[in-house]
Amino acid sequence: MIMRKMNGAQAETSRTLQGIGVSPGIVVAKVMVLKRPTWRAGRYHLPPEHIEQEVGRFSQAINAAGQELLRLREKVADDLADALSIIDSHLLMLKDRMIIERTTAIIRQNNVNAEWALAQALCDIKERFDRIDDPYIKERYADIKHVADRVFGLLAGRESDPLDLATGPTIVVANDFSPEDTMRMQAGNVLGFLTEKGGMNSHTAIVARSLAIPAVVGLEHVTGILATGDLIIMDGGSGLVILRPDPEEIIRYQADERHSRARADELDRYIYLASETLDGYTLRLSANIEMVEELPTVLRYGSEGIGLFRSEFDYFQGRRPPTEEQLLSTYRQLLETMSPHPVTVRTLDVGGDKFLNSFPGNKAWFDQERNPALGLRSIRFSLYEKELFRMQLRALLRASVHGRLRILLPLVSALGEVRQAKAIIRELMADLEAAEQPYAVDVEIGMMVEVPSAVVMADVFAAEVDFFAIGTNDLIQYSLAIDRGNQYVAHLYEPFHPAVLRMIKQTVEAGHAHNIPVSLCGEMAGDVLCVPVLMGLGLDELSMRPAVIPKVKRLLRHSSTRQLRNLGEQVLRCADSNDVRAYLATTLPQYYPKEFQQP
Ligand code: PEP
Ligand code: MG
Repeated sequence: MIMRKMNGAQAETSRTLQGIGVSPGIVVAKVMVLKRPTWRAGRYHLPPEHIEQEVGRFSQAINAAGQELLRLREKVADDLADALSIIDSHLLMLKDRMIIERTTAIIRQNNVNAEWALAQALCDIKERFDRIDDPYIKERYADIKHVADRVFGLLAGRESDPLDLATGPTIVVANDFSPEDTMRMQAGNVLGFLTEKGGMNSHTAIVARSLAIPAVVGLEHVTGILATGDLIIMDGGSGLVILRPDPEEIIRYQADERHSRARADELDRYIYLASETLDGYTLRLSANIEMVEELPTVLRYGSEGIGLFRSEFDYFQGRRPPTEEQLLSTYRQLLETMSPHPVTVRTLDVGGDKFLNSFPGNKAWFDQERNPALGLRSIRFSLYEKELFRMQLRALLRASVHGRLRILLPLVSALGEVRQAKAIIRELMADLEAAEQPYAVDVEIGMMVEVPSAVVMADVFAAEVDFFAIGTNDLIQYSLAIDRGNQYVAHLYEPFHPAVLRMIKQTVEAGHAHNIPVSLCGEMAGDVLCVPVLMGLGLDELSMRPAVIPKVKRLLRHSSTRQLRNLGEQVLRCADSNDVRAYLATTLPQYYPKEFQQP
């Protein structure tokens, strides 16, 4: 967040385009612009005797699309878990009722052609997705669209795709690419890609990162601006594209690329070193993840545990909540993989900007909420939908024998919530005991500190829980009254607000006075500008995106406790975030000359 503000996106000029860099890497190469047909479905009325034939044509296209995906799946290497699971999810979409049954019903009810019926079914699905606020879930519509495009192509009798022509050292440009396209690019040795559509969390972006194909998305009209054969520089990290670069620019960017590779190699060294300061003070660096598929990345970057598993993402996958057995298998995998390190599973944190549509009976509480950020969120939701909560907790307790489990309760604002949750856990433990099912008696139960009332009462809470995890993403939102997802007030969302820093300190002190550890798992924990401050405020653990762990560890290993304490004390004296930033701008380059340059 802060680094983004400091680096700032470069302004677009006639020779540069600014998009969203979703997969890092600098490439200098000629582009190939792929104009793929956009499937426009005309409406044709069919005589009744042709209707079943049309339904059959549609089923054949669905089957052929499935065959294509299976063939692609066979070509993808087994260790590319992300890519394989995306193909699997696309195969499942081909069986989705909203696509199959709805399209077939429209063909039969309206006596129309399959293309038009599929387009109508797609409109219905899109409408549903448009009502969702969560950007992550919203981007899942792109997957459905990619699957539907494949079926449209087959209905239209497509035999080959322009992407098949793109092999060799080229950057491909199109309106959009599907995740499967990205996998095919790797096979064709494509160097990078640019698209008009897309976002950071799209599956296309996720696959590009896991295959290390540099990519910039969200470049409006780029297929009209660039022509096949144009030479460009693309920076998949910053999202900058330079058209017709001059020789000096090319040399400069190629040197940048070499430096960033060398930096990454240098950072890799830290993966295997201890997380400790120069004078031997240790701090746990752990990972925030949403899916078990991320475990290989967690291990790759030397994480010392999972500091935050956002369990709600398992509930976003299907039309129904996962079963207890499915949850058990996920939690078991997490615990076994990370053992002996701790795994912190946060119980369902839905509501606010993350809402579920996967409930029996399709209850729509969230639709009726005027102010969802202050509504039936997180622990409040779990205590309202107790059966669902009990199922998750039972799965957690049953998994607890497979490693070191910490259960984390989100958005706690009153003591009663912790006590109710603990009472449910005690009841479930008694049930398991009666059924002679094993569980770990020493499961730790902690709470997120992410609303001001939890900070003010931290000394009281600390006597009731085994650990605190400070969630600064929400703590900033709720203490500064800034909606974390609102672009109009994004400039006021300030991690260095002295109120935020003091709340962190107060929570740390309350936790330590009761001998419980205090971690921080908001975005601040992975921001190198914030990390020295957080270490100075006395946190015991920082949990972050796995890929930034080596960078944070390098900072830690170049720190001394005396300097960190001094930093912590000084920032707490500042009256304003500008003072904090000014202080850091002069102090950090002195303490860490390699990491921070003089302003
Ligand atoms: C937080 O609020 O800081 C946090 C880690 O939780 P989330 O971002 O999932 O709300
Ligand atoms: Mg939160």
